[in-house]
Amino acid sequence: MDKSYERLLEAYAVTKKYLKQQIDLGFDRLYLSKDKEKEEEENFSDSVEGDLQKFYQRIKDCKKCPLHVTRTNFVFGEGSGKSRILFVGEAPGREEDIQGKPFVGQAGKLLDKILKAIDFSREEVYIANVLKCRPPGNRDPQPDEIKACEPYLLKQIEILKPEIICALGRISAQALMKTKSPLGQLRGRFHDYHGIKLIVTYHPAALLRYPQYKKGCWEDVQMLRREYDKVFK
Ligand code: SF4
Repeated sequence: MDKSYERLLEAYAVTKKYLKQQIDLGFDRLYLSKDKEKEEEENFSDSVEGDLQKFYQRIKDCKKCPLHVTRTNFVFGEGSGKSRILFVGEAPGREEDIQGKPFVGQAGKLLDKILKAIDFSREEVYIANVLKCRPPGNRDPQPDEIKACEPYLLKQIEILKPEIICALGRISAQALMKTKSPLGQLRGRFHDYHGIKLIVTYHPAALLRYPQYKKGCWEDVQMLRREYDKVFK
C-alpha cells in the first residue's frame, strides 16, 4: 500500500477515535485554533467543584439515548468535591427524576441511615448513578443506555479521584467492573478498579424489598469504614 495512503488511513482512525471520545464526554463542537481562548475558558480548572460544575453544564441537556425523552430532570449527582468516597447507584428513580437529585426517595432515606450508621453524612460523600436519566417505570437500564451514559460517570470519577468507590447494587457493580458475576460473588471484599478500591453492596431499594439483606449490607459498609479509617486516620 502506498505510504501516504497508509498515513492518511492512520490519521483518519486517530481522528475518528478522538471525535468519538469528545462526543462521549458531551462535547457538541470542535474548536479550531482561533477559538483557543474559548476552549481554554471551557477547559477544566484545578478545583474539583469547579470542574464538576463545568462538566454538569456540558452534559445536562444530553440526548445521547432515548431516556432523555421521558426524563423530567437530568440527575448529575451531588455531594462534596472533597469526598474520598464515591457511592454509585444504577439510575434515578421516580423521586430523583422529579427532584433532579440522587437518592432522595425511600431508598435515599435508607442510604442516609446507612451512612449515619458508619459515621458519614450525605454532605461528606459524593453520590452518583451510572445513568443520569430515569428508565421508565424504574426498569433495569439497557446495555446500550449504560454504554451511552457511562463515559459521564467515568469523567466524574476522573475529576473526583476517590480513594474508595462503593457500588450500590448489581447493575452498578457489573457496569463498573465489566462483569456478569452475580452480586453475591462480588460482595465481601475490595476489588481493584483502576487503582481505586471498590466495594460492592446491596442497593438500598433492594434492602427495602428484602430486609434479610440488611445484615450483609451492614457487614459491607463496616468493611468500607474500616478501610477508610486505615487510609485516612
Ligand atoms: S441516560 Fe445518560 S446518555 Fe441517556 S440521555 Fe440521559 S444523560 Fe444522556
